[in-house]
Amino acid sequence: MSYWPVRLASLPEGFGPMEPEMRARELKQLFTLTATLTAGQREQLMAHLGSRLDMDEVSAVVQGRMARHPGCPKCQAHHVVCNGQAGGLQRYKCRSCGVTFNALTGTPLARLRHRDKWLEQTQAMDEGLSVRKAAARMEVHKTTAFRWRHRFLGLARQAKANKLAGVVEADETYVLRSYKGQRRELLAEQVRKPRHRGGKAAKRGLSAEQVPILVLRNRAGQTTDQVLEVANTRFVTEVMQPALADDAVLCTDGSGMLAKVASELGIEHHAVNTLRGEHTRGAWHIQNVNAYHSRFKQWMRRFNGVATSYLPNYLGWFRALDRNAQSGAKPASLLALAVGA
Ligand SMILES: [Zn+2]
Repeated sequence: MSYWPVRLASLPEGFGPMEPEMRARELKQLFTLTATLTAGQREQLMAHLGSRLDMDEVSAVVQGRMARHPGCPKCQAHHVVCNGQAGGLQRYKCRSCGVTFNALTGTPLARLRHRDKWLEQTQAMDEGLSVRKAAARMEVHKTTAFRWRHRFLGLARQAKANKLAGVVEADETYVLRSYKGQRRELLAEQVRKPRHRGGKAAKRGLSAEQVPILVLRNRAGQTTDQVLEVANTRFVTEVMQPALADDAVLCTDGSGMLAKVASELGIEHHAVNTLRGEHTRGAWHIQNVNAYHSRFKQWMRRFNGVATSYLPNYLGWFRALDRNAQSGAKPASLLALAVGA
């Protein structure tokens, strides 16, 4: 095994040259050759180069992750050296524990294949393509497209703001419960007849068909959320304790449960009575969190109903987009979100 002892900090940005560079004379010859291509061959060449460019971009994003997480994924030591290439990625070796790894080790994207299609994957997610359409566009199997989607959402799901400081607005929003993609189990359980996707709740207001989501957002725009499968004071207290800084000031719409939680946590609490048409009381309002709810719901429409069990993944993806104001951003920035770069 050969490695050259280069400390990570001294590595240049992006990838080092993996293949010997083409000389100017050879490049000129290559350009001359292109003159003899048929139109069809020219298109093939363009597609080939496009895919190489995508690979380069993906590699640069992935490699950028090393700058943010420079340590060994196993022992966290920082004495790490380059250790050749594997699968088109720079490989590293930890001098402390001896483990070899690359920039994706320990992420949901580790060992995922077809990196030349990852930008298309993030693009498809940003456009909210169905799994079927995404699969067709990327020319992969439907199960692959499905697996990729949830791998790409995996890191975003875990990244939640905590210890929110200052004025923190808290409010619940509701989405329709969905068993999309789970009809067989549903019929077996005979819970109820499958509803047409994106349908209406049979009952108005809160019912078993509505899933409550608690969103906390402070005035600096930091946000966290939780699907409330159990909406009782004890559970919500457990959720809110790590989410709030000790000196946070909570602002709600006067929900009895949130008031109890605030007193349980010993946190200053101000309620606006939205049911009575009160929208602000001095500095106290929940308009930021409500605007966040609307943006989330509008963004979710593109997916045409998602299974409730996957809701935390989509909430995470939206938090990441909102945090970076990157909806409609370049696929490479979206990929950076997915790999935590
Ligand atoms: Zn190590």
